[in-house]
Amino acid sequence: MNIADMLQLKSSEAFFGDGRFGVRLLEEILNTPTVSGIQERLLIEKLRSILAGLGCKNEMIGDCLVAVKEGNQDGSVLIDVHVDTVGFAVNHIGDGVVHVMPMGGITPSAAVTNYVTIHTRNGQVPGIIGYTPPHLKGSGGDDKKAVEQGDLFVIPQGTDEQNNAIGVGDPVEIVSPFSLTDTWIRGLGVDDGIGVWQVLNLLAMTADSTATYPTIIVSFSTQEEVGAHGTERVLPGIIQKYEPDIAIVLDCTSSTAIPGVKKELAGDIGLDGPAITFRDHGTVYDRQLTDFVLCVARQLGIRHYPRMTQFGGTDGMKLTQVAGGRRTVSISTPSLNIHSMSASVKKKATYLTLLLLAGLLFHKETWLGFYGIATS
Ligand SMILES: [Zn+2]
Repeated sequence: MNIADMLQLKSSEAFFGDGRFGVRLLEEILNTPTVSGIQERLLIEKLRSILAGLGCKNEMIGDCLVAVKEGNQDGSVLIDVHVDTVGFAVNHIGDGVVHVMPMGGITPSAAVTNYVTIHTRNGQVPGIIGYTPPHLKGSGGDDKKAVEQGDLFVIPQGTDEQNNAIGVGDPVEIVSPFSLTDTWIRGLGVDDGIGVWQVLNLLAMTADSTATYPTIIVSFSTQEEVGAHGTERVLPGIIQKYEPDIAIVLDCTSSTAIPGVKKELAGDIGLDGPAITFRDHGTVYDRQLTDFVLCVARQLGIRHYPRMTQFGGTDGMKLTQVAGGRRTVSISTPSLNIHSMSASVKKKATYLTLLLLAGLLFHKETWLGFYGIATS
């Protein structure tokens, strides 16, 4: 299968259509609550049955789901996507409100006034993140003061019985349902539900009888948002069992196409294609492999953004740091309003990121070049 054929087989419209791996699956992934560290299991269970239907072997290593699709050409690649999403957890209840702690990086001022769902052991309780209007704070009110983490409180809006069921440790999901416009995919879960969806579509491509591909090992990792702990735990088991030659971390990243960003520090990351990262705050990625990916993107005519920044981090920091870690490249779909209820990515970038991945793994010559560097 060559890339031109692939382009004809799978247009952007096909991916966002009603097919088996189309928009309904994306909606289901994004609408499954997955608060980091405490609520990933529900999505993992759904993924297990989808992966079995794709002919993938899958198993739990620690709390992460690992899927393996045996290849029909040399080499093996580990793709890491994270299944968790930023949210909160209950840490204190009193005076009719619920205090919450962040599970992942959430800017308090972006969270104030959001709707939330508290997932108790007895069911879901609706709520809102409250705020104190400045005119109620007395003369000279402090409305200029930034909202800080300790200012956040949730007002539960269930019945007395429901509210009484709220307990310390309960996940608090920011309500942010999936929605589509003609050009955008919206919902808090885009990071990294988009990566999960891209990788399922990639695995689905192996069903084409003419496809050639290496062994693809996917780690659906937990706890990325609270410090990449899932990848840290699962990686030794994957390396011991499957010995991948190379690793790709597939995630969302922040576009810098907004006012007020210092591009000399953050890089110039648009919204119309994948970002390919040389370094971020957490990781220095493999230079030769990254150059190769940039070269493939150019050859395929895929709009893309080389990224070199002091900010952000991904599971890549564990993929490259943990003993036995692999040479790693980072491919990300740029997002606006990441880690907020209005997080959004462009359909075009989502599709082009998937196409770049397919171009790397499913095009025989390209893969062998990639693999050649990885094993040299
Ligand atoms: Zn992410």
